[in-house]
Amino acid sequence: MTAPIDRSTTWPYVDGEPGAFAYSRDSGPTLVEAERRLGALDGGEALVFSSGMAAATAIVLALLGPGQTVALPEGCYYGTEVMLDELSRWGLRKVAFDQTGPPPEGADLVWLEAPSNPFLTMPDFEAAAAHPGRVVCDSTAATPLHVRPLELGCDIALHSATKYLAGHDDALIGAVVCKRPEDAARLLEFRIRTGPVPAADTAWLLVRGLQTLEIRVARQTSTAGLIAERLAGHDAVAVVRYAGFGGLLSFDVVDAEAARRVETSTRLFVNKTSLGGVVSSIEARARWEGDRVPPGLLRVSVGVEEPEELWNDLEQALARA
Ligand code: PLP
Repeated sequence: MTAPIDRSTTWPYVDGEPGAFAYSRDSGPTLVEAERRLGALDGGEALVFSSGMAAATAIVLALLGPGQTVALPEGCYYGTEVMLDELSRWGLRKVAFDQTGPPPEGADLVWLEAPSNPFLTMPDFEAAAAHPGRVVCDSTAATPLHVRPLELGCDIALHSATKYLAGHDDALIGAVVCKRPEDAARLLEFRIRTGPVPAADTAWLLVRGLQTLEIRVARQTSTAGLIAERLAGHDAVAVVRYAGFGGLLSFDVVDAEAARRVETSTRLFVNKTSLGGVVSSIEARARWEGDRVPPGLLRVSVGVEEPEELWNDLEQALARA
């Protein structure tokens, strides 16, 4: 059965009172359907947002106040750090830590990323769960198929559903999945008051994407494992980073010029940003992240194309490194 798309922005009152749905800034049937399915996958109460960054911003603005501190993993998604820097004007603080060990004492909220983008480190979930602060895990790159943060002691799972969950590079959408109903209620209240909701069509694309998540990610995982292994044996490649699951990996060539030659020489891998789609992509991350990453770091998102064809494409591009 295909889930219906309800594009209404407003619904009639029932006997003079608001019914289940009244106004689409609050919620709507298609959003609720996406939330029901994602909540079941992650084992909590899900809420969708207009983007992954909107979901991340909602978490810190709704659950923290001025003067409070977020412990942020070194080498996590750079946009999360940029967002927290933006909010520093409103008194939010951040402290960097190595997520493979315990989070710093005194942090009010511990941010984890499983695995981190683009360094592919995995958090020490046990150490984070022992921390007194709320624990949020951005499990965008893992998906609930590989990491279920709420079962590992986290309070909130965060997704850029734009990536693997929707899966086709055609839907910008974010989500949180909360362990505690109070957190979900507060985040819903914040979402209603501030308005970062996705359109019904976008929520529907997430519902559609979730239907093939398992087969897409299984294929991406097996191809990415093969590519990571072959990259590790390639003369032009210095370091390979892969978490052992999922379609995201990164590797280093000698310098920025070599990275540019490789990313502009692929034919199957599209030279573009983002990750998690069915079409493979590659990009030098220094163009966005500057000296936060090695100049020769290339991030690869493995899609669902034929594995040997993907490897052949990378190999011919690496000949120019
Ligand atoms: N978290 C991670 C790990 C990401 O890779 C991204 C985007 O690249 C985001 C969050 C932000 O998501 P969005 O682009 O949907 O706002």
